[in-house]
Amino acid sequence: MERLLDGRVAVVTGAAQGIGFEIARTLHQHGARVVLADLDEQAAARAATDIAGDGSDCAGVACNVTSEDDVRAVVSGAVDRFGALDIFVNNAGITRDASMKKMTLENFDAVISVHLRGTWLGVREASAVMREQKSGSIVNISSLSGKSGNPGQTNYSAAKAGIVGLTKAAAKEVAHHNVRVNAVQPGLIRTPMTAAMPPDVFAQREADVPMKRAGEPGEVAGAVVFLASSLSSYITGSVIEVGGGRYM
Ligand code: NAP
Repeated sequence: MERLLDGRVAVVTGAAQGIGFEIARTLHQHGARVVLADLDEQAAARAATDIAGDGSDCAGVACNVTSEDDVRAVVSGAVDRFGALDIFVNNAGITRDASMKKMTLENFDAVISVHLRGTWLGVREASAVMREQKSGSIVNISSLSGKSGNPGQTNYSAAKAGIVGLTKAAAKEVAHHNVRVNAVQPGLIRTPMTAAMPPDVFAQREADVPMKRAGEPGEVAGAVVFLASSLSSYITGSVIEVGGGRYM
């Protein structure tokens, strides 16, 4: 396999499990040194060991993406440890699904905060380093829920649509510094997040996908590697859908 990211330095948030873990694993497979940031430091450290064994080119660190101090510390920690920051993936996410009748303000604020505030902090802190370097690629994980709007997800759909607007605005601000900002919109992907869905709902959603199956985390990671690598050197402000044709 041709390694597309030899020597690059990457940070992935929410990387202890699911899509984030697979993104970190695939970036590492392509030669990147990776900082895995997650709420649970031990889970992040275990994930880093799963990827790199005893190797020193992966690290797991604690980070709550809603905390300005935490995000700053992750970015400066990556630069101190590995000497640069080339790739930053804003992946951390939560759901608090409920119809509007039942959704509390806390459910709304929590989802908006992790996805929108978290992604904004990641983009701001990462791009500050990358604009000085005159290179870098930021990838924000949105969702097809932000394109189509899902009932029961007024909070999540709003946050994921907001990430698209944030991606495009930020891309325009930093393009002339050779920093690219793009988004990926996964559809239905098999992870701990979707394992929490009732099986009949999951099966119905799967039946609605033109490719007639849920996606795997590695299929999202492939799009992220493309956007992180020089294969996509003239792509910024774009949104790649990884949804098996759903909502095309
Ligand atoms: P997941 O399995 O629940 O993993 C998310 C990870 O993010 C968990 O390790 C979680 O930690 C961590 N996290 C949550 N809040 C955080 C915070 N404030 N700071 C740092 N880390 C935090 O979810 P996933 O399915 O892999 O989803 C990853 C991303 O893809 C999310 O942005 C999600 O919205 C998006 N996405 C997923 C799908 C899908 O079908 N799975 C579809 C479209 C988009 P804890 O476990 O400790 O909470």
